[in-house]
Amino acid sequence: MEKISIIVPCFNEEKALPLFYEELDKNIKKFPNNINFEIIFVNDGSNDDTLKIIKDLLTKDNRIKYISFSRNFGKEAAIYAGLENASGDYVTLMDADLQDPPSLLLQMYEAITKENYDAVGTKRVTRKGEPIIRSFFARLFYKIINKMTSFEMVDGARDYVFMNRQVVNSIISLKEYNRYSKGLFSFVGFNVKWIEYENIKRVAGETKWSFWKLTKYALEAITAFSTAPLTFASLIGLLFCIVSFLLIIAIIFKTLILGDPTSGWPSLVCIIFMVSGIQLFSLGIIGQYLSKTYLEIKKRPVYIIKDTNIE
Ligand code: UDP
Ligand code: MG
Repeated sequence: MEKISIIVPCFNEEKALPLFYEELDKNIKKFPNNINFEIIFVNDGSNDDTLKIIKDLLTKDNRIKYISFSRNFGKEAAIYAGLENASGDYVTLMDADLQDPPSLLLQMYEAITKENYDAVGTKRVTRKGEPIIRSFFARLFYKIINKMTSFEMVDGARDYVFMNRQVVNSIISLKEYNRYSKGLFSFVGFNVKWIEYENIKRVAGETKWSFWKLTKYALEAITAFSTAPLTFASLIGLLFCIVSFLLIIAIIFKTLILGDPTSGWPSLVCIIFMVSGIQLFSLGIIGQYLSKTYLEIKKRPVYIIKDTNIE
């Protein structure tokens, strides 16, 4: 019998979870009877009643599994824990806030089993309901990162994906500590079908992503998938060497021929400011990569499990 694993990262989702479960259950019923399901709730260190609600659901429904972290490790860690512990032939990732409509599940499953795709991704067609400035920076981010990487990161792509075992195993085999799931999904390749849908507001609770958190996430994605900023820093350095060399020659000639008296300390100050700014900026870029390398090299676990019902 075929089995589908549904992974749901949850961080303070006590309000949304019951609604999510009801909606999911309704849509699972649309599947043929000979398919098994496993719903893995990953409690990412919630400090509300999320875990209690999961355990309540568990008493009514034996398809439910849970993994509870020792603290908040972030959505990426929750996704990874889910993937590593899922036993299904197919695996899907869904947010607990119903922004990833369960009504698409059957369609996604059929795209893999009937249309021969390896995976199905979803993307939003519009960013309606999102602050304008957030949309602007999101678009900018995708423009920049797609210039820097050799594979395409789809603008508006969500973490809501449906994958066969081969794709899941490929993603698990990427053992990096700094995980950017959307990038990893694009990186492994395979034959992916994209389904589009309108942006949906979360049913209950609040988003955990502030603008600052998103900015950090974007920088993480860039350093995880591209070394272009390092090349950029080297090129700026080279450019400045050439410019300064030409300036030196020009000044020597000017002094020898025209006998120029000492002058121009304001311009000198400007130049010093600018050049040292660029130096610090480049050093910062190198620092970003160094810090990522540092974290990778420690080989710390991506998550720590406190409690689970998965053997
Ligand atoms: N989430 C998580 N750990 C976190 C932050 C979020 O597991 O540290 C989960 C959250 O419970 C939800 C999903 O990730 O199921 C998406 O989070 P959210 O809805 O806050 O993000 P948004 O949809 O606003 O991008
Ligand atoms: Mg959401």
